[in-house]
Amino acid sequence: MTEQTKKLLARIERNVTVNEETGCWEWNRYCNKTNGYGLVWVGRDEHGKYIWNNAHRLSYELFWGPVPEGMEVAHTCHTPKCCNPNHLVACTHKENIRMSVEAGRWVRGTDKKNAKLTERDVRIIKEGSIFEQLSQRAVARMFNINLTTLRSILTGDTWSHVTV
Ligand SMILES: [Zn+2]
Repeated sequence: MTEQTKKLLARIERNVTVNEETGCWEWNRYCNKTNGYGLVWVGRDEHGKYIWNNAHRLSYELFWGPVPEGMEVAHTCHTPKCCNPNHLVACTHKENIRMSVEAGRWVRGTDKKNAKLTERDVRIIKEGSIFEQLSQRAVARMFNINLTTLRSILTGDTWSHVTV
């Protein structure tokens, strides 16, 4: 991990409030008034002007790598200011719109308080590359589970039917 990546990760970490109920990392600094996206200062251009990036997009890139050409970063949690990389997916503009349209239905259909891990979540945890960037505690926070639950996945005491 480069110094620049570390600095940007720390900036995200410092400026989000974790919503205990949903697991969302809610950007608590300046947000775009039109679309609600968090804005993060990433540097200056050659004229000394500030360069801003969408906080969720930056978070996606830091954790999962560059956003593929022509794709957008969408929120599976439908919270524009959320920067939890596990709530972010790259998709086309069309898919992004479709997801927004279906959002109402999804939100109603999910009991967020009792949000359960999905097999996809477990596969990401077991595959393990995420631990190169984050401590167990941070990964548990990211998936909104406690450390005991995380460790029992890693030892295979639970979710043993999911293989990487
Ligand atoms: Zn979220």
